[in-house]
Amino acid sequence: MENEVVSKNFIEQIIEEDIREGHCKAVRTRFPPEPNGYLHIGHAKSILLNYGLAKEYGGKFNMRFDDTNPTKEKVEFVESIKEDIKWLGADWEDRLFFASDYFEQMYEAAVKLIKKGKAYVSDLNAEQIREYRGTLKEPGREDPGAVRGVEENLALFEDMRNGKYEDGSKVLRARIDMASPNINMRDPVLYRVAHMSHHNTGDKWCIYPMYDFAHPIEDAIEGISHSICTLEFEDHRPLYDWVVRELGYENPPKQIEFAKLYLTNVVTGKRYIKKLVEEGIVDGWDDPRLVSIAALRRRGFTPESIQRFVELCGVSKANSSVDYAMLEYCIREDLKLKRPRMMAVLNPIKLVIDNYPEGEVEYLDAANNLENEELGSRKIPFCRELFIEREDFMEEPPKKYFRLFPGNEVRLMHAYFVKCVGFVKDEQGNVTEVHCTYDPETKAGSGFTGRKVKGTIHWVPAPFAGKCEVRLYENLVDEEKGVYNKEDGSLNLNPDSLSILRDCYIEPALAEAGPYDSYQFVRQGFFCADAKDSRPDALVFNRIVSLKSSYKLPAQGNTQGR
Ligand code: ATP
Ligand code: MG
Repeated sequence: MENEVVSKNFIEQIIEEDIREGHCKAVRTRFPPEPNGYLHIGHAKSILLNYGLAKEYGGKFNMRFDDTNPTKEKVEFVESIKEDIKWLGADWEDRLFFASDYFEQMYEAAVKLIKKGKAYVSDLNAEQIREYRGTLKEPGREDPGAVRGVEENLALFEDMRNGKYEDGSKVLRARIDMASPNINMRDPVLYRVAHMSHHNTGDKWCIYPMYDFAHPIEDAIEGISHSICTLEFEDHRPLYDWVVRELGYENPPKQIEFAKLYLTNVVTGKRYIKKLVEEGIVDGWDDPRLVSIAALRRRGFTPESIQRFVELCGVSKANSSVDYAMLEYCIREDLKLKRPRMMAVLNPIKLVIDNYPEGEVEYLDAANNLENEELGSRKIPFCRELFIEREDFMEEPPKKYFRLFPGNEVRLMHAYFVKCVGFVKDEQGNVTEVHCTYDPETKAGSGFTGRKVKGTIHWVPAPFAGKCEVRLYENLVDEEKGVYNKEDGSLNLNPDSLSILRDCYIEPALAEAGPYDSYQFVRQGFFCADAKDSRPDALVFNRIVSLKSSYKLPAQGNTQGR
């Protein structure tokens, strides 16, 4: 839109100022996940933000695994994370890095600090370090190791590397200020001893760098200009700046913090999801009720819908929570014109057209999407016996019910008008068949204007319909009660978060649905063939989202930035 004023978010403003003032010659950003779990919608925000900024300023985007802590990391996660980021559309080209490839440089950096008198080896254990650190009200106490000379520190640090000490018996600390009002600056630990195998470096190392020391070095080595992270690192920024300054990097990276993305009534915590997976409450990390990127993909979300969602969320310094309905809005908008509109009957009842000749079949033309001609059209077989939705017939209709009931006429989508002339019940009194007559004059596309009907219903031809399973999803947690149980902190689960319908019928064109193929099922919603469980001879569809929503986009002023 020509007249639209696009205001820059606060990160863009910082970057533009840095470029203007000559502090930044080339924009370079990165996404630095720890390979210790699956990525979720919150990470998508960080990925697309970093990637988007690099693109916007003609810069480069790096993919870097921050794999400096071997206890929790697994190769499985490295692969899933790469797949998810590719799928989201953030292209790192040939810039895939591992922090563990820099271990030697980090070691050299630590030696440099020791030589400058800016780091020392401490004999305190974890508990003592905590004790010596002081509190917000009281300053910390000097570590007895702080008086060691450079030579002694160098020798001890080398011995740490060479495996002379047990886990937890020695650490390397920065010498900064035990009285600093910022506790992160009270001689933070830089290296610890941990005799553990690492997924990349094997048994080469038995000392590992701490995040606050490793991260700025990783950024500096890669020439990152703006190191964008979430708000909880704000208090660590002075330490980040200290590390790059003391190590004398030219054009040091600048850390910028933004607020995490949270969704209302949605679980994202790794700890909780891990438990749900382990207890079999969900079907793996990609269960379509979760908001991991793998789960959203499996449910039928598109990269475009997530890009749009992240854009609408904006970038901010204040923590807040976004409604899940906004994510649903984005996928609905994205699929509306892109996907064919097909007929599927989820809760079937048979409809017999008494005056349609037995054994006869005709093939009716149906546009795939009336709002997008490019999607073409298909032929649907029409015959004497069809399936319709059980809800589209009522023996005794309430007022304003315009669908089938005895004596009423409706339009069968893409076909004819039919009038209900009777129905059959079983011994229990359940309706098992609805009988109609059709009017050949009313064929769709024939230009018939003789009379009007108020209801239009969808159908599938019984002898040609494919059978399939449909999975309907609701929120995993009970929205009334809230995500967490106030007493024990456990999750308040919604027992009805998954409904499985096993007796659904689809029109023939849907029989070709392959993994991740998605469609609108007319009058029902958007559905996607399940990539894990759907087979050509036993199709399974996930409901991505229903068609209707009372959701309204927040007014322009409520979304920040782009
Ligand atoms: P952990 O508790 O294991 O550290 P994490 O979700 O922070 O979990 P990381 O692998 O450290 O996982 O995250 C990678 C990047 O994603 C970080 O830069 C982090 O700031 C960002 N990130 C994580 N969660 C969110 C979120 N909810 N919104 C936006 N960015 C996020
Ligand atoms: Mg983290």
